[in-house]
Amino acid sequence: SYKGPSLEAIGTIRQNNVNPIMKPLYKKPLLLHQGYMQWLFDNDGKRYLDMFGGICTVSVGHCHPKVTDAAFNQWNKLVHTSSLFQHPKLYEYSQKLADKMPGDLKVVYLLNSGSEANDLAILLARLYTGNNEILSLKNCYHGMSYQTMGLTSLANYKYKVVPPPAIHNVMNPDVFRGIWGGSNCRDSLAQTSRHCSCREKECEACDNYIRMLKSEFQSTVGPGKLAGFFAESIQGVGGAVQFPRNYIKEAYKIVKENNGLFISDEVQTGIGRTGDHFWGFESHGILPDIVTMAKGIGNGFPMSAVVTTKEIATTLTTGSHINTFGGNPIASAVGLAVLDIIEEEQLQENSKEVGSFLITELDKMRKRFPNIGDVRGKGLMIGVEMVENDGKMTPMSPTNFDDLLDKCREMGLILGVGGYNRNVIRLKPPMCITKEDASFALEVIEKALKSQL
Ligand code: PMP
Repeated sequence: SYKGPSLEAIGTIRQNNVNPIMKPLYKKPLLLHQGYMQWLFDNDGKRYLDMFGGICTVSVGHCHPKVTDAAFNQWNKLVHTSSLFQHPKLYEYSQKLADKMPGDLKVVYLLNSGSEANDLAILLARLYTGNNEILSLKNCYHGMSYQTMGLTSLANYKYKVVPPPAIHNVMNPDVFRGIWGGSNCRDSLAQTSRHCSCREKECEACDNYIRMLKSEFQSTVGPGKLAGFFAESIQGVGGAVQFPRNYIKEAYKIVKENNGLFISDEVQTGIGRTGDHFWGFESHGILPDIVTMAKGIGNGFPMSAVVTTKEIATTLTTGSHINTFGGNPIASAVGLAVLDIIEEEQLQENSKEVGSFLITELDKMRKRFPNIGDVRGKGLMIGVEMVENDGKMTPMSPTNFDDLLDKCREMGLILGVGGYNRNVIRLKPPMCITKEDASFALEVIEKALKSQL
């Protein structure tokens, strides 16, 4: 049972001593103190199904016994050395991670957060190409360090400071809210249901977005100056925005024609979550030059990685690039355990099976509930965009949206929030959830929606 500070005491500490941006989600703030696999427990001992997994961070399950054992065994042996010496776990982990990468992506840098990984990717792209200009897509999230705040293109994550130089945000191909796709698409399906099928099949929306990218590239960067192009395989914080089929493939061609590097941010979409492939970029049929990852690779332990080719990595050997905690023995032991578990428990396959079931059922629900505007995603990387029932796709009001989340919480279901308009339910659970868990989540969401009618 819970023995920590009371909910009231926590509230006082929050007001006086904690980063003031940290506001709890629910009307009655949730105090979680224990987790096991797909389950979380609050201070009253109530159990919740966790469909958010700390935003893809709890990948194989809260306090997975094998991860806990790996961390504690390592803790008892050796916690830290220095990059001047060697410890086996960093080498074992780097090799195992490299084995999971396609092509020549074989050199691994180990760091501590997604922002740090993307910062390093910016440096690598600039050093390797000799160029400065970086592109990322609007509505993306790549981090909160000074440089990655420039990559991140969501106004609510921007501050009134001079932005980092030579980073440009170009139009993202959002086929639900964007200017092409969805109800603006000539696709006959979209005409009747606001739902364009261009994520699954080739569609004119994709051609239009690529034309726009070419035009924006010319006006912001121009030929001969591109260092790198960043993209998530499915935009995470932005609300699980899934691009039209072929967009990333065509964007990749533009990057290559201009001798730039393609950087795939797999912080949310990596390690099997999208189901069909181990890495999200594989479903776009491309081979990036640099891949960044964090969150789920540590199942909650802070760690991140950048993987690139030997040729690109060589550019960094002109100086000394070190990181005190990157690849520390515990992080490496945890990372190894996570990769082992994904294989042993077939979590990529599970993501595909349970994820497809959820997406299919949520899409059926969309047809019954006009408040569901869009259902999208792949595997266990799912977005459900909520709208007002006004036929105009107006984002669901914060009052209605929060009420929906509150009702689900009361029924024992934790959902994620996202999207620029904060009207997207994000489902990104630990990959160990079962079909029965998914059915429970669907039942709860349906009940909550019915209560709003
Ligand atoms: N990239 C993506 C896609 C992310 O979702 C995040 C975190 N939300 C980051 C990078 C930054 O990671 P961190 O918070 O560990 O710096």
